[in-house]
Parts: sequence; C-alpha cells; structure tokens
Amino acid sequence: MSRSTQVDDVVDANHVLFDEGIVDAFGHVSVRCENDASRFLMARNLAPSRVTPADILEFHVASGEPVTSAASRPYLERFIHSEIYRARPDVMAVVHSHSPAALPFAIARGGARRFVPVCHMAGFLGGVDHESVPSFEIRDQAGGASDLLIRSRELGAALALTLGERRLVLMRGHGCTVVGPSLPVAVFRAVYTEVNAKLLLQTLPLGEIEALTAGEADATRITNEGQAARPWDLWREQARRKRGLLAG
Ligand code: MN
Repeated sequence: MSRSTQVDDVVDANHVLFDEGIVDAFGHVSVRCENDASRFLMARNLAPSRVTPADILEFHVASGEPVTSAASRPYLERFIHSEIYRARPDVMAVVHSHSPAALPFAIARGGARRFVPVCHMAGFLGGVDHESVPSFEIRDQAGGASDLLIRSRELGAALALTLGERRLVLMRGHGCTVVGPSLPVAVFRAVYTEVNAKLLLQTLPLGEIEALTAGEADATRITNEGQAARPWDLWREQARRKRGLLAG
C-alpha cells in the first residue's frame, strides 16, 4: 500500500468516524506506516470532519513527535497513539474518541466490568468469561488535579500498559481508545463499541442481560473481522459522497 493510499484512508477514517457519531470536534484516528513501522500518520490538530490529505502529518512512534519539526500543531493526546504503537507491534491503527454511549461505562464505578459484548458484532470486546474490558484511571498517574488528557509519553505508556493485549481501553471520565490490526478493523471496532454501549444502556433497564460467552465472542469476532471491508467500503463511499468526491 502506497503512502498516498494510506493518507487517503486515514482521511476517510476521520470522516467516517464523524458520520457515525464516534468523534465530534474532538477525537483522532491514526494508522501505522506500512513501509516504516517506526512511524504513523495522523491529522494535525483539527476537527476530524475537516481533515483533508494536506492535514496528515507523519509522527515518530518513539517520541510521538512529528517527523518534520516545522509541522503544524499536533494533537495534545498524540501520545495515546505513539505509546500504543510502541507497546503493541501488532497494532496498525488506533482510534481515540469520547464515544458518547460508551462513556457511562467509563464513569460508573465498576462500569468497565459491565461493558460486556451483548450482540454478535461486538465479540471483539471479549466474552463474559474473558477478563473484563480494562479501564484507565488517570489519577493513579497524574493525581487529582489533571485535565484528564494523555498529554505526555509517560501517560501514554501508562494507558498502553492498562490496554495490555486487549482491543479497547475505557478512560475514566474521558472516553476510550480502540486498536486494530488494520484501519478498517479499528474503525469497525470503534463503531461497534458505541453500538454495543447503546444496546446495553437500552437493555439494562429491562433487567438481567445475556452476554456473549468467550467462545461466542471469539467466533463472532473472527467472522465479522474477516469481512471488515464490507462496512468500510460502505462508510467510505458515503463519506466521500458527502464531501462531493463522488457523484450523486
Ligand atoms: Mn480525548
């Protein structure tokens, strides 16, 4: 995959995540460079729905800093991305958002334990007999008066440590971060994190829920992510049409 294809893909991912209500003026998505695993691509400090190819910067995984020193202002929370890429060689894409329906599970005490997959599209969360989704408590690192942002390498490293080998980490009072082995899969997981959260919030008032078992979670994840191109192609086409890049 060429660099310009990866740039176009990460631009499209920004628009798709906005269209799907995962990001608003805030949140960001990155992709690791296919031809250089020590670098990744992400927009400059800009609302996702305004991102164009000219806004994509290249960053060093090692430092989280832009490769070009005169580069435009980067996102404050770029260290979420750099430190996860540093800790997880398998990760090719990262989405950080304030995914609105997922946030209650990052606010309620013990909320992460209740964030279990309840529909077959969310098997990537791991089933009830897997360990629960991890939740990052920034107070453990930054004390009780931080702005909750991952604004340093140290905080990024602590977040990556909490993520561990998982696919999603909730961030207390802030949002969540999702990773994937490709950009389409990371976007898919970000969208279905939000879908699963909405389903849970709608179902919890009805009483006890029936979550996926670990076996069901693994099986559904493999099936769904084997066809991640299907939603990606749809969402990207819609996003390009909205931007007037496609007729109709
Ligand atoms: Mn944030």
